[in-house]
Amino acid sequence: MTTAVVAGVEVDTRHWIGGRRVASADTFEDVSPLDGSVIAHVSRGGQAEVDAAVAAAKEAFAAWSRTPAAERAAILHRVADGVEARIEDLAQVETRDNGSLLRSHRRGVMPRVATNFRYFADHLLELAHPDFETRGHRNHVSWDPAGVTAVITPWNAPLMLATWRIGPALAAGNTVVAKPPEWAPLTASLLADIAHEAGLPAGVLNVVQGLGTEAGAPLVAHPDVRRISFTGSVPTAQRIGESAARNVTPVSFELGGKSPLLVLDDADLDLAVHLAVEQFDNSGQVCLAAVRILVQEGIYAEFRERFLARAAAITQGDSRDEASDMGPLVGRTHLDRVDGFVKRAVADGATVVLGGEPHHELNNATGGFYYRPTVFEGVDRSMEITCQEVFGPVLTLQTFATEEDGVAMANDTEYGLAATLVTGDRERAERVSAQLNAGTVWVNCFFVRDLSAPFGGNGRSGIGREGGTWSFDFYCDVKNSVFAPKGWV
Ligand code: NAD
Repeated sequence: MTTAVVAGVEVDTRHWIGGRRVASADTFEDVSPLDGSVIAHVSRGGQAEVDAAVAAAKEAFAAWSRTPAAERAAILHRVADGVEARIEDLAQVETRDNGSLLRSHRRGVMPRVATNFRYFADHLLELAHPDFETRGHRNHVSWDPAGVTAVITPWNAPLMLATWRIGPALAAGNTVVAKPPEWAPLTASLLADIAHEAGLPAGVLNVVQGLGTEAGAPLVAHPDVRRISFTGSVPTAQRIGESAARNVTPVSFELGGKSPLLVLDDADLDLAVHLAVEQFDNSGQVCLAAVRILVQEGIYAEFRERFLARAAAITQGDSRDEASDMGPLVGRTHLDRVDGFVKRAVADGATVVLGGEPHHELNNATGGFYYRPTVFEGVDRSMEITCQEVFGPVLTLQTFATEEDGVAMANDTEYGLAATLVTGDRERAERVSAQLNAGTVWVNCFFVRDLSAPFGGNGRSGIGREGGTWSFDFYCDVKNSVFAPKGWV
Protein backbone atom coordinates (compact mmCIF):
# COMPACT_ATOMS: atom_id res chain seq x y z
CA MET A 1 0.00 0.00 0.00
CA THR A 2 1.56 3.29 -1.04
CA THR A 3 -1.27 5.71 -0.38
CA ALA A 4 -3.92 6.35 2.22
CA VAL A 5 -7.15 8.27 1.75
CA VAL A 6 -7.67 10.43 4.81
CA ALA A 7 -10.73 12.67 5.07
CA GLY A 8 -11.11 12.22 1.32
CA VAL A 9 -7.54 13.38 0.63
CA GLU A 10 -5.05 11.02 -1.00
CA VAL A 11 -1.75 10.95 0.91
CA ASP A 12 1.34 9.11 -0.30
CA THR A 13 2.69 7.11 2.64
CA ARG A 14 6.16 6.57 1.20
CA HIS A 15 9.28 8.66 1.78
CA TRP A 16 10.21 11.52 -0.54
CA ILE A 17 13.89 11.18 -1.41
CA GLY A 18 15.76 12.88 -4.25
CA GLY A 19 12.55 13.93 -5.95
CA ARG A 20 10.86 10.54 -6.01
CA ARG A 21 8.74 8.32 -3.83
CA VAL A 22 10.58 5.49 -2.09
CA ALA A 23 8.91 2.72 -0.09
CA SER A 24 10.35 0.78 2.83
CA ALA A 25 9.71 -2.93 3.29
CA ASP A 26 8.22 -2.21 6.72
CA THR A 27 5.47 0.18 7.72
CA PHE A 28 4.16 1.62 10.97
CA GLU A 29 0.52 2.24 11.87
CA ASP A 30 -0.79 5.77 12.07
CA VAL A 31 -3.76 5.98 14.46
CA SER A 32 -6.31 8.82 14.57
CA PRO A 33 -6.89 10.24 18.06
CA LEU A 34 -10.47 11.09 17.12
CA ASP A 35 -11.62 7.48 17.16
CA GLY A 36 -8.60 5.20 17.56
CA SER A 37 -8.82 3.93 13.98
CA VAL A 38 -5.77 3.13 11.85
CA ILE A 39 -5.78 5.75 9.08
CA ALA A 40 -2.52 4.87 7.31
CA HIS A 41 0.34 2.40 7.08
CA VAL A 42 3.40 4.58 6.66
CA SER A 43 6.83 3.59 5.30
CA ARG A 44 9.13 2.87 8.21
CA GLY A 45 12.55 4.25 7.35
CA GLY A 46 15.93 3.51 8.91
CA GLN A 47 19.63 3.89 8.20
CA ALA A 48 19.35 3.04 4.47
CA GLU A 49 16.61 5.61 3.78
CA VAL A 50 18.43 8.23 5.84
CA ASP A 51 21.67 7.58 3.94
CA ALA A 52 19.85 7.93 0.62
CA ALA A 53 18.09 11.13 1.70
CA VAL A 54 21.25 12.78 3.06
CA ALA A 55 23.12 11.83 -0.14
CA ALA A 56 20.34 13.36 -2.26
CA ALA A 57 20.34 16.50 -0.11
CA LYS A 58 24.12 16.79 -0.31
CA GLU A 59 24.05 16.47 -4.09
CA ALA A 60 21.25 19.03 -4.45
CA PHE A 61 23.05 21.47 -2.14
CA ALA A 62 25.67 22.35 -4.77
CA ALA A 63 23.11 23.93 -7.10
CA TRP A 64 20.52 25.16 -4.56
CA SER A 65 23.08 27.02 -2.45
CA ARG A 66 24.24 28.84 -5.59
CA THR A 67 20.76 29.60 -6.90
CA PRO A 68 20.33 33.40 -6.81
CA ALA A 69 18.46 34.57 -3.72
CA ALA A 70 15.63 36.10 -5.78
CA GLU A 71 15.07 32.78 -7.55
CA ARG A 72 15.08 30.80 -4.28
CA ALA A 73 12.63 33.31 -2.81
CA ALA A 74 10.32 33.04 -5.84
CA ILE A 75 10.19 29.25 -5.52
CA LEU A 76 9.43 29.49 -1.79
CA HIS A 77 6.60 31.93 -2.52
CA ARG A 78 5.21 29.36 -4.95
CA VAL A 79 5.39 26.74 -2.17
CA ALA A 80 3.39 29.15 0.00
CA ASP A 81 0.86 29.56 -2.83
CA GLY A 82 0.56 25.77 -2.98
CA VAL A 83 -0.01 25.54 0.77
CA GLU A 84 -2.70 28.24 0.57
CA ALA A 85 -4.41 26.43 -2.29
CA ARG A 86 -4.59 23.27 -0.18
CA ILE A 87 -5.41 24.70 3.26
CA GLU A 88 -8.62 22.71 3.53
CA ASP A 89 -6.89 19.41 2.61
CA LEU A 90 -4.03 20.07 4.99
CA ALA A 91 -6.39 21.07 7.80
CA GLN A 92 -8.61 18.01 7.34
CA VAL A 93 -5.67 15.58 7.25
CA GLU A 94 -3.87 17.18 10.22
CA THR A 95 -7.02 17.12 12.34
CA ARG A 96 -7.58 13.45 11.60
CA ASP A 97 -3.89 12.73 12.26
CA ASN A 98 -3.12 14.63 15.49
CA GLY A 99 -6.59 15.47 16.80
CA SER A 100 -6.18 19.27 17.02
CA LEU A 101 -9.23 21.41 16.23
CA LEU A 102 -10.15 21.72 12.57
CA ARG A 103 -11.17 25.35 13.02
CA SER A 104 -7.68 26.19 14.38
CA HIS A 105 -6.01 24.42 11.49
CA ARG A 106 -8.19 26.19 8.94
CA ARG A 107 -7.96 29.70 10.35
CA GLY A 108 -4.65 29.87 12.16
CA VAL A 109 -2.22 27.01 11.76
CA MET A 110 -2.24 26.30 8.02
CA PRO A 111 -2.19 29.96 6.95
CA ARG A 112 0.83 30.26 9.24
CA VAL A 113 2.49 27.35 7.38
CA ALA A 114 2.32 29.44 4.19
CA THR A 115 3.71 32.45 6.06
CA ASN A 116 6.64 30.34 7.27
CA PHE A 117 7.76 30.20 3.62
CA ARG A 118 6.77 33.73 2.58
CA TYR A 119 8.32 35.53 5.51
CA PHE A 120 11.74 33.88 5.23
CA ALA A 121 11.75 34.20 1.43
CA ASP A 122 11.24 37.96 1.86
CA HIS A 123 13.69 38.22 4.72
CA LEU A 124 16.38 36.53 2.62
CA LEU A 125 16.20 39.41 0.16
CA GLU A 126 16.68 41.98 2.93
CA LEU A 127 19.46 40.14 4.75
CA ALA A 128 22.35 42.55 5.14
CA HIS A 129 24.77 43.89 7.68
CA PRO A 130 26.33 47.30 7.00
CA ASP A 131 30.00 47.12 6.07
CA PHE A 132 32.28 48.62 8.70
CA GLU A 133 35.83 49.83 8.85
CA THR A 134 38.87 48.75 10.84
CA ARG A 135 41.95 50.98 10.34
CA GLY A 136 40.97 51.62 6.74
CA HIS A 137 40.05 47.96 6.08
CA ARG A 138 36.49 47.14 5.02
CA ASN A 139 34.65 44.36 6.91
CA HIS A 140 31.88 42.63 4.98
CA VAL A 141 29.51 40.17 6.67
CA SER A 142 27.78 37.47 4.63
CA TRP A 143 25.57 34.47 5.35
CA ASP A 144 26.85 31.38 3.52
CA PRO A 145 24.53 28.36 3.25
CA ALA A 146 25.73 25.68 5.69
CA GLY A 147 24.70 22.43 4.00
CA VAL A 148 22.35 19.54 4.70
CA THR A 149 19.93 20.33 7.53
CA ALA A 150 18.10 17.72 9.61
CA VAL A 151 14.66 18.88 10.76
CA ILE A 152 13.07 16.72 13.45
CA THR A 153 9.71 17.75 14.85
CA PRO A 154 6.92 16.65 17.22
CA TRP A 155 3.24 15.89 16.69
CA ASN A 156 1.45 18.70 18.52
CA ALA A 157 1.57 21.06 15.51
CA PRO A 158 3.39 18.90 12.96
CA LEU A 159 3.35 20.96 9.78
CA MET A 160 3.56 24.36 11.45
CA LEU A 161 6.58 23.37 13.54
CA ALA A 162 8.32 21.63 10.63
CA THR A 163 7.91 24.54 8.23
CA TRP A 164 9.01 27.11 10.83
CA ARG A 165 12.41 25.36 10.43
CA ILE A 166 12.20 24.19 6.80
CA GLY A 167 11.21 27.67 5.54
CA PRO A 168 14.32 29.50 6.79
CA ALA A 169 16.64 26.53 6.12
CA LEU A 170 15.63 26.46 2.44
CA ALA A 171 15.66 30.26 2.18
CA ALA A 172 19.20 30.22 3.56
CA GLY A 173 20.25 27.94 0.68
CA ASN A 174 20.44 24.73 2.69
CA THR A 175 18.87 21.46 1.70
CA VAL A 176 16.69 19.57 4.14
CA VAL A 177 16.00 16.06 5.34
CA ALA A 178 12.85 16.20 7.46
CA LYS A 179 11.83 13.43 9.85
CA PRO A 180 8.18 14.02 10.76
CA PRO A 181 6.65 12.72 14.01
CA GLU A 182 5.51 9.10 13.86
CA TRP A 183 2.25 9.95 15.65
CA ALA A 184 1.23 12.50 12.99
CA PRO A 185 3.35 12.14 9.85
CA LEU A 186 0.89 12.73 7.01
CA THR A 187 0.97 16.45 6.24
CA ALA A 188 4.76 16.29 5.70
CA SER A 189 4.05 14.02 2.75
CA LEU A 190 1.54 16.52 1.35
CA LEU A 191 4.14 19.26 1.77
CA ALA A 192 6.58 17.22 -0.36
CA ASP A 193 3.95 17.11 -3.14
CA ILE A 194 3.28 20.84 -2.85
CA ALA A 195 6.99 21.73 -2.91
CA HIS A 196 7.58 19.51 -5.94
CA GLU A 197 4.66 21.09 -7.83
CA ALA A 198 6.02 24.54 -6.90
CA GLY A 199 9.28 23.73 -8.69
CA LEU A 200 11.56 23.03 -5.74
CA PRO A 201 14.38 21.02 -7.35
CA ALA A 202 14.78 17.31 -6.56
CA GLY A 203 16.75 16.60 -3.39
CA VAL A 204 16.31 20.08 -1.89
CA LEU A 205 13.57 18.84 0.45
CA ASN A 206 13.49 15.18 1.48
CA VAL A 207 11.09 13.49 3.88
CA VAL A 208 12.02 10.28 5.68
CA GLN A 209 9.19 8.75 7.70
CA GLY A 210 9.87 6.54 10.68
CA LEU A 211 10.34 6.15 14.39
CA GLY A 212 12.66 8.38 16.38
CA THR A 213 15.11 5.65 17.32
CA GLU A 214 15.15 4.10 13.82
CA ALA A 215 15.06 7.10 11.46
CA GLY A 216 15.74 10.12 13.69
CA ALA A 217 18.82 8.69 15.40
CA PRO A 218 20.80 7.83 12.22
CA LEU A 219 19.85 11.18 10.73
CA VAL A 220 21.30 13.25 13.58
CA ALA A 221 24.39 11.01 13.70
CA HIS A 222 25.09 11.40 9.97
CA PRO A 223 28.46 13.09 9.35
CA ASP A 224 27.15 14.91 6.24
CA VAL A 225 24.44 16.71 8.20
CA ARG A 226 25.65 20.26 8.92
CA ARG A 227 22.76 21.57 11.04
CA ILE A 228 20.30 19.84 13.38
CA SER A 229 17.06 21.63 14.04
CA PHE A 230 15.07 19.79 16.70
CA THR A 231 11.75 20.49 18.37
CA GLY A 232 10.67 18.01 21.02
CA SER A 233 11.32 16.75 24.52
CA VAL A 234 14.36 17.20 26.76
CA PRO A 235 15.32 13.47 26.93
CA THR A 236 15.37 13.23 23.12
CA ALA A 237 17.39 16.46 22.91
CA GLN A 238 19.94 14.96 25.27
CA ARG A 239 20.37 11.94 23.00
CA ILE A 240 20.56 14.10 19.88
CA GLY A 241 23.08 16.38 21.59
CA GLU A 242 25.40 13.42 22.18
CA SER A 243 25.30 12.49 18.48
CA ALA A 244 25.75 16.08 17.39
CA ALA A 245 28.77 16.49 19.66
CA ARG A 246 30.57 13.63 17.93
CA ASN A 247 30.40 15.46 14.57
CA VAL A 248 30.50 18.96 16.09
CA THR A 249 27.19 19.67 14.34
CA PRO A 250 25.47 22.88 15.46
CA VAL A 251 22.04 22.33 17.03
CA SER A 252 18.97 24.46 17.51
CA PHE A 253 16.78 22.96 20.25
CA GLU A 254 13.20 24.04 21.01
CA LEU A 255 12.14 21.93 23.97
CA GLY A 256 9.55 21.74 26.69
CA GLY A 257 8.34 24.17 29.29
CA LYS A 258 6.58 24.67 32.59
CA SER A 259 5.63 28.26 32.02
CA PRO A 260 3.92 30.52 34.57
CA LEU A 261 0.84 32.73 34.26
CA LEU A 262 1.54 35.43 36.83
CA VAL A 263 -1.59 37.35 37.87
CA LEU A 264 -0.91 40.46 39.98
CA ASP A 265 -3.59 41.97 42.22
CA ASP A 266 -4.19 44.96 39.92
CA ALA A 267 -4.98 42.70 36.95
CA ASP A 268 -8.12 42.94 34.85
CA LEU A 269 -9.82 39.76 36.11
CA ASP A 270 -11.79 39.16 32.91
CA LEU A 271 -8.53 39.16 30.99
CA ALA A 272 -6.73 37.01 33.57
CA VAL A 273 -9.51 34.39 33.52
CA HIS A 274 -9.62 34.46 29.72
CA LEU A 275 -5.86 33.90 29.49
CA ALA A 276 -5.98 31.10 32.07
CA VAL A 277 -8.73 29.23 30.19
CA GLU A 278 -6.75 29.63 26.95
CA GLN A 279 -4.10 27.32 28.43
CA PHE A 280 -6.38 24.36 27.67
CA ASP A 281 -6.02 25.04 23.93
CA ASN A 282 -4.92 22.02 21.91
CA SER A 283 -5.74 19.96 25.03
CA GLY A 284 -2.72 21.53 26.71
CA GLN A 285 -0.35 19.99 24.17
CA VAL A 286 1.43 23.30 23.68
CA CYS A 287 5.08 23.83 24.62
CA LEU A 288 4.40 27.45 25.53
CA ALA A 289 1.33 26.80 27.69
CA ALA A 290 1.28 28.74 30.96
CA VAL A 291 0.39 25.75 33.10
CA ARG A 292 1.44 27.13 36.50
CA ILE A 293 -1.18 29.73 37.38
CA LEU A 294 0.17 32.00 40.12
CA VAL A 295 -2.32 34.48 41.58
CA GLN A 296 -1.74 37.23 44.16
CA GLU A 297 -3.61 36.49 47.39
CA GLY A 298 -6.05 39.45 47.48
CA ILE A 299 -7.78 38.47 44.22
CA TYR A 300 -7.42 34.70 44.45
CA ALA A 301 -10.93 33.81 45.69
CA GLU A 302 -12.69 35.70 42.91
CA PHE A 303 -10.23 34.57 40.23
CA ARG A 304 -10.58 30.95 41.32
CA GLU A 305 -14.37 30.97 41.21
CA ARG A 306 -14.56 32.60 37.80
CA PHE A 307 -11.76 30.53 36.29
CA LEU A 308 -13.16 27.18 37.45
CA ALA A 309 -16.64 28.10 36.16
CA ARG A 310 -15.22 28.93 32.74
CA ALA A 311 -12.96 25.84 32.64
CA ALA A 312 -15.88 23.58 33.61
CA ALA A 313 -17.87 24.97 30.68
CA ILE A 314 -15.29 23.90 28.06
CA THR A 315 -16.99 21.78 25.39
CA GLN A 316 -15.08 18.61 24.62
CA GLY A 317 -15.84 16.72 21.47
CA ASP A 318 -14.95 15.78 17.91
CA SER A 319 -12.25 18.16 16.69
CA ARG A 320 -14.03 18.56 13.36
CA ASP A 321 -17.06 20.03 15.08
CA GLU A 322 -17.03 23.85 15.18
CA ALA A 323 -18.73 23.68 18.60
CA SER A 324 -15.84 21.78 20.20
CA ASP A 325 -13.38 23.78 22.31
CA MET A 326 -11.12 20.86 23.09
CA GLY A 327 -10.37 17.66 21.19
CA PRO A 328 -8.57 14.48 22.28
CA LEU A 329 -4.98 13.87 23.30
CA VAL A 330 -2.79 12.54 20.51
CA GLY A 331 -3.02 8.86 21.45
CA ARG A 332 -3.40 6.09 24.01
CA THR A 333 0.25 6.18 25.16
CA HIS A 334 0.10 9.91 25.74
CA LEU A 335 -3.25 9.70 27.55
CA ASP A 336 -1.77 7.12 29.92
CA ARG A 337 1.25 9.37 30.45
CA VAL A 338 -0.92 12.39 31.30
CA ASP A 339 -3.09 10.26 33.60
CA GLY A 340 0.06 8.98 35.32
CA PHE A 341 1.06 12.57 36.17
CA VAL A 342 -2.43 13.24 37.56
CA LYS A 343 -2.48 10.07 39.67
CA ARG A 344 0.99 10.76 41.07
CA ALA A 345 -0.03 14.35 41.91
CA VAL A 346 -2.99 13.02 43.89
CA ALA A 347 -0.70 10.54 45.65
CA ASP A 348 1.64 13.45 46.46
CA GLY A 349 -1.24 15.23 48.24
CA ALA A 350 -2.46 17.66 45.56
CA THR A 351 -6.21 18.38 45.44
CA VAL A 352 -8.16 17.94 42.20
CA VAL A 353 -10.63 20.83 41.88
CA LEU A 354 -11.66 20.04 38.29
CA GLY A 355 -11.47 16.94 36.08
CA GLY A 356 -8.68 14.58 37.06
CA GLU A 357 -9.49 11.69 34.73
CA PRO A 358 -10.03 10.63 31.12
CA HIS A 359 -13.40 11.54 29.61
CA HIS A 360 -14.67 7.96 29.84
CA GLU A 361 -18.09 8.53 28.23
CA LEU A 362 -16.61 10.29 25.22
CA ASN A 363 -13.86 7.70 24.87
CA ASN A 364 -16.34 4.81 25.11
CA ALA A 365 -18.63 6.46 22.56
CA THR A 366 -15.92 7.39 20.03
CA GLY A 367 -12.88 5.18 20.65
CA GLY A 368 -10.85 8.41 21.01
CA PHE A 369 -8.44 9.62 23.70
CA TYR A 370 -10.14 12.51 25.49
CA TYR A 371 -8.98 13.81 28.88
CA ARG A 372 -10.99 16.17 31.06
CA PRO A 373 -9.67 19.69 31.69
CA THR A 374 -7.92 19.25 35.02
CA VAL A 375 -7.00 21.76 37.71
CA PHE A 376 -5.02 21.15 40.90
CA GLU A 377 -4.86 23.17 44.09
CA GLY A 378 -2.78 22.54 47.21
CA VAL A 379 0.43 21.98 45.26
CA ASP A 380 3.96 23.00 46.10
CA ARG A 381 7.43 22.92 44.62
CA SER A 382 8.23 19.52 46.12
CA MET A 383 5.65 17.86 43.86
CA GLU A 384 6.36 16.51 40.39
CA ILE A 385 3.19 18.23 39.07
CA THR A 386 4.69 21.71 39.58
CA CYS A 387 8.09 20.84 38.09
CA GLN A 388 7.71 18.38 35.20
CA GLU A 389 6.07 19.08 31.86
CA VAL A 390 2.77 17.14 31.53
CA PHE A 391 1.89 18.27 27.99
CA GLY A 392 -1.82 17.79 28.61
CA PRO A 393 -4.84 19.73 29.91
CA VAL A 394 -3.53 19.91 33.47
CA LEU A 395 -3.03 23.24 35.26
CA THR A 396 -2.02 24.06 38.83
CA LEU A 397 -3.25 26.99 40.97
CA GLN A 398 -0.96 28.63 43.54
CA THR A 399 -1.02 31.93 45.42
CA PHE A 400 1.66 34.37 46.46
CA ALA A 401 1.77 37.35 48.83
CA THR A 402 4.05 39.99 47.30
CA GLU A 403 5.22 40.89 43.82
CA GLU A 404 8.67 39.68 44.80
CA ASP A 405 7.28 36.29 45.89
CA GLY A 406 5.37 36.01 42.62
CA VAL A 407 8.47 36.62 40.52
CA ALA A 408 10.43 34.11 42.60
CA MET A 409 7.74 31.44 42.10
CA ALA A 410 7.48 32.19 38.38
CA ASN A 411 11.23 31.76 37.98
CA ASP A 412 11.43 28.67 40.20
CA THR A 413 11.69 26.20 37.30
CA GLU A 414 14.41 24.45 35.33
CA TYR A 415 12.65 25.54 32.13
CA GLY A 416 12.44 29.04 30.66
CA LEU A 417 10.41 29.02 27.47
CA ALA A 418 7.71 31.62 28.14
CA ALA A 419 6.07 33.61 30.91
CA THR A 420 2.75 35.46 30.87
CA LEU A 421 2.12 38.42 33.15
CA VAL A 422 -1.24 40.05 33.89
CA THR A 423 -1.20 43.47 35.53
CA GLY A 424 -3.04 46.76 35.18
CA ASP A 425 -0.01 48.90 35.97
CA ARG A 426 2.39 49.96 33.23
CA GLU A 427 5.37 50.46 35.56
CA ARG A 428 4.84 47.10 37.23
CA ALA A 429 4.59 45.50 33.80
CA GLU A 430 8.00 46.87 32.85
CA ARG A 431 9.59 46.04 36.21
CA VAL A 432 8.25 42.50 36.55
CA SER A 433 8.67 41.46 32.90
CA ALA A 434 12.34 42.46 33.12
CA GLN A 435 12.80 40.01 36.01
CA LEU A 436 11.10 36.99 34.40
CA ASN A 437 13.38 34.23 33.19
CA ALA A 438 11.95 33.21 29.80
CA GLY A 439 12.68 33.40 26.07
CA THR A 440 9.32 35.11 25.52
CA VAL A 441 7.35 37.24 28.00
CA TRP A 442 3.77 38.18 27.21
CA VAL A 443 2.19 41.04 29.15
CA ASN A 444 -1.61 41.05 29.19
CA CYS A 445 -1.65 38.83 26.10
CA PHE A 446 -0.69 35.31 25.03
CA PHE A 447 0.73 33.58 21.95
CA VAL A 448 1.39 36.71 19.93
CA ARG A 449 4.25 35.44 17.78
CA ASP A 450 5.86 37.44 15.02
CA LEU A 451 8.26 35.58 12.72
CA SER A 452 10.75 38.42 12.99
CA ALA A 453 10.96 38.05 16.80
CA PRO A 454 13.60 35.86 18.45
CA PHE A 455 12.08 32.62 19.68
CA GLY A 456 13.60 29.96 21.92
CA GLY A 457 14.00 28.93 25.52
CA ASN A 458 16.30 29.30 28.49
CA GLY A 459 17.55 26.46 30.70
CA ARG A 460 16.05 23.10 29.81
CA SER A 461 13.71 24.75 27.28
CA GLY A 462 16.35 24.78 24.61
CA ILE A 463 19.44 26.05 22.90
CA GLY A 464 19.48 29.03 20.55
CA ARG A 465 17.02 31.47 19.04
CA GLU A 466 15.27 31.41 15.69
CA GLY A 467 13.12 34.00 13.91
CA GLY A 468 14.15 36.84 11.58
CA THR A 469 17.90 37.13 11.15
CA TRP A 470 18.45 34.80 14.11
CA SER A 471 17.24 31.94 11.86
CA PHE A 472 19.73 32.81 9.15
CA ASP A 473 22.48 33.05 11.78
CA PHE A 474 21.76 29.41 12.66
CA TYR A 475 21.22 27.94 9.20
CA CYS A 476 24.24 29.72 7.69
CA ASP A 477 27.96 29.88 8.21
CA VAL A 478 28.23 33.58 8.98
CA LYS A 479 31.39 34.97 7.41
CA ASN A 480 33.34 38.20 7.84
CA SER A 481 35.57 39.18 4.90
CA VAL A 482 38.14 41.90 5.55
CA PHE A 483 39.32 43.89 2.53
CA ALA A 484 42.61 45.73 2.76
CA PRO A 485 42.61 49.48 2.01
CA LYS A 486 42.43 50.44 -1.66
CA GLY A 487 45.74 50.22 -3.40
CA TRP A 488 46.61 46.72 -2.22
CA VAL A 489 44.30 44.93 -4.69
P1 NAD B 1 9.89 13.65 21.34
O1 NAD B 1 11.17 14.24 21.80
O2 NAD B 1 9.48 12.34 21.88
O3 NAD B 1 9.89 13.50 19.75
C1 NAD B 1 10.14 14.58 18.88
C2 NAD B 1 10.71 14.03 17.58
O4 NAD B 1 11.97 13.44 17.85
C3 NAD B 1 9.87 12.96 16.91
O5 NAD B 1 9.86 13.18 15.52
C4 NAD B 1 10.62 11.69 17.25
O6 NAD B 1 10.44 10.67 16.31
C5 NAD B 1 12.05 12.17 17.24
N1 NAD B 1 12.98 11.33 18.00
C6 NAD B 1 12.72 10.54 19.08
N2 NAD B 1 13.84 9.92 19.49
C7 NAD B 1 14.84 10.33 18.68
C8 NAD B 1 16.24 10.06 18.61
N3 NAD B 1 16.84 9.24 19.48
N4 NAD B 1 16.97 10.68 17.66
C9 NAD B 1 16.39 11.55 16.80
N5 NAD B 1 15.07 11.82 16.80
C10 NAD B 1 14.30 11.23 17.73
O7 NAD B 1 8.78 14.76 21.62
P2 NAD B 1 7.21 14.64 21.38
O8 NAD B 1 6.58 13.84 22.47
O9 NAD B 1 6.97 14.24 19.96
O10 NAD B 1 6.78 16.18 21.52
C11 NAD B 1 6.45 16.80 22.72
C12 NAD B 1 7.59 17.64 23.21
O11 NAD B 1 7.93 18.65 22.25
C13 NAD B 1 7.24 18.40 24.47
O12 NAD B 1 8.31 18.37 25.38
C14 NAD B 1 7.01 19.82 23.98
O13 NAD B 1 7.18 20.82 24.94
C15 NAD B 1 8.04 19.92 22.89
N6 NAD B 1 7.73 21.03 21.99
C16 NAD B 1 8.52 22.15 22.01
C17 NAD B 1 8.23 23.23 21.18
C18 NAD B 1 9.06 24.49 21.22
O14 NAD B 1 8.97 25.27 20.28
N7 NAD B 1 9.83 24.74 22.26
C19 NAD B 1 7.14 23.16 20.32
C20 NAD B 1 6.35 22.02 20.34
C21 NAD B 1 6.66 20.96 21.16
